[in-house]
Amino acid sequence: MHTYHTPLDLVRERSPERPVALARPDVVATAARWFQDNFKGDVFYAVKANPSPWVVETLAGNGVNAFDVASIPEVELVAEHAPGARMAFMHPVKSRAAIAKAYFDYGVKTFSFDTHEELAKILEATGGADDLSLIVRLAVSADGAAYSLSGKFGVDLHEAPSLLLAARRATQDRMGVSFHVGSQCMRPTAFQAAMAQASRAIVRAGVMVDVVDVGGGFPSVYPGMVPPQMSDYVDSIQRGFADMMVHEDTELWCEPGRALVAEAQSILTKVELRKGEALYLNDGSYGSLFDAAHAKWPFPVKLYRGGAEAQEVEGPLKPFRFYGPTCDSLDHMPGPFWLPEDVREGDYVEIGMLGAYGVAMNTRFNGYGDAETVVVGDAPMASMFGLAGRTIPLPRERQEEERKVVRLSRPKGAAGKKRRKR
Ligand SMILES: *Cc1c(COP(=O)(O)O)cnc(C)c1O
Repeated sequence: MHTYHTPLDLVRERSPERPVALARPDVVATAARWFQDNFKGDVFYAVKANPSPWVVETLAGNGVNAFDVASIPEVELVAEHAPGARMAFMHPVKSRAAIAKAYFDYGVKTFSFDTHEELAKILEATGGADDLSLIVRLAVSADGAAYSLSGKFGVDLHEAPSLLLAARRATQDRMGVSFHVGSQCMRPTAFQAAMAQASRAIVRAGVMVDVVDVGGGFPSVYPGMVPPQMSDYVDSIQRGFADMMVHEDTELWCEPGRALVAEAQSILTKVELRKGEALYLNDGSYGSLFDAAHAKWPFPVKLYRGGAEAQEVEGPLKPFRFYGPTCDSLDHMPGPFWLPEDVREGDYVEIGMLGAYGVAMNTRFNGYGDAETVVVGDAPMASMFGLAGRTIPLPRERQEEERKVVRLSRPKGAAGKKRRKR
């Protein structure tokens, strides 16, 4: 991959015609090391958040050598880019062929499930293997997540004991529980609360578990969503673990996706047309901006102007909305995105914090979506790990009142006045 010191260098040297994904491997490395140093257990990266080969390689090179996979293509990706890494197949519904291939061809021994039927499938497809780590996915009630993941998967807590018992009898190796408190979890105590529910199910089943897997949900920083510190989350998990009915050697696992990668990638898009306060960009909801369109997240932005005197353009700011390149009217990102008021055709808009569930969502719909990736060395627009440069997350108290107009990297001066008038 090409490397540029900053996105501005890329604009200056290349004036790219197509969207460019800007990768920051050092940022992934920092997040990986933070989890290694602070989470008192095993860290599995949830590959679906960003399946880019450079992400898998950077994580493996920085100590995160275990991966949560959900399909054979994800298994193959990890096998290729992190040879020898440990994998856990944590999708609670798998085809028999996928289970068999993962077990026999790739040595995957950890599987999750939330029904007796799926447990039977796993045992049959592995030829009655007795060396499996069997993880029961529990449905926990958890408030505080921006994206709930409880509706689709997880066994109800009153049905959990019989499944735990069946799993305990089915393996000579590890048996455990997992859950997911929901993605972008804004309340650290959601983990402790979920662990208390898991503990009650274990006690009712009268079994011992060897693994407690607290799943993902660790947050990142977005405009209007500045979470508590990451250390509050691992503290909550430590307290929850200490209160659980488990044995001395029970392992603690987690499966962060978003938190390991969100900061590490942004997208450089080009303005193809301006119509008043609407900017028509060359990337959109079928590209890397799924959450900007469907969850209406107002991602942070920066503006660059190319040409002989290429520069980053600053202040006075105005709110803009974006349209993507496809002909579908759903290809609309309402924002608001705060950009200098003289933004014009040919300018470049960098949209930040798209490392998780951003580039991963890219499609080829309508002939678009073909983005190149380059490496850049500047800081992310916001950070849970103290990496953001000139950009400072807003203090927590001001989040609510600023929710509509919040912007992570805003120049001082005229911009501030304009914003207060609204
Ligand atoms: C998506 C997913 C994760 C990662 O969730 P984040 O919110 O990105 O941390 C972890 N575990 C499972 C089973 C998942 O489906």
